Amino acid sequence: MAKYIDADCRLCRREGAKLFLKGERCLSKKCAMERRPVIPGMHPNTRKKPTEYLTQLREKQKVKRAYGLLEKQFHGYYEEAERMKGKTGENMLSLLERRLDNVVYGMGMGASRASSRQLVNHGHICVNGKRVNIPSFEVKVGDVISVKENKQKKAPFVAVKETRVVAPKWLEFDPAKLTGKVVALPQRDDIDLNIEEHLIIELYSK
Ligand code: SF4
Repeated sequence: MAKYIDADCRLCRREGAKLFLKGERCLSKKCAMERRPVIPGMHPNTRKKPTEYLTQLREKQKVKRAYGLLEKQFHGYYEEAERMKGKTGENMLSLLERRLDNVVYGMGMGASRASSRQLVNHGHICVNGKRVNIPSFEVKVGDVISVKENKQKKAPFVAVKETRVVAPKWLEFDPAKLTGKVVALPQRDDIDLNIEEHLIIELYSK
């Protein structure tokens, strides 16, 4: 499977927004968007005024990169959202939020979506008591997400027990037990990334 291997911070600089791809570093002064918030490349400031298409494209790239997805996977979420009732843009964001790797990130068990994905891939996470190692697994209301019992003494999980985690309001999380529950479906207001999802829908529906 294709994989992006260049520096994550370049992605933030390209999109002109903090995508929070590197955990604690993103909140520190070392963040590249604090130190050098310009488009990467030789002549970052000589680009022309963006066209409508470019604005839509950049918005799509920003969201796709924030969730760490490839084009095919991301477009799949658009197609699924389009088949659902309601607003396609909001449905798409809700589906993205419900990915298991994002839920693990929301519960503070991984410092970033990428490290949360690794925790899932490595089989550390259970849903309703069963190990699930598929990062794109879509959680439902009532699902209980926990850390596999024999993995709870691993360093990232011990640290979580000692931290005060503020999970999104559609998730309940008990750090002491390393267990969380999906109490509602994520709504548009629950997503704190600065996203104009209508631009993505406009792009894909051309
Ligand atoms: Fe983006 Fe984080 Fe790098 Fe800052 S430190 S540029 S937010 S990935």
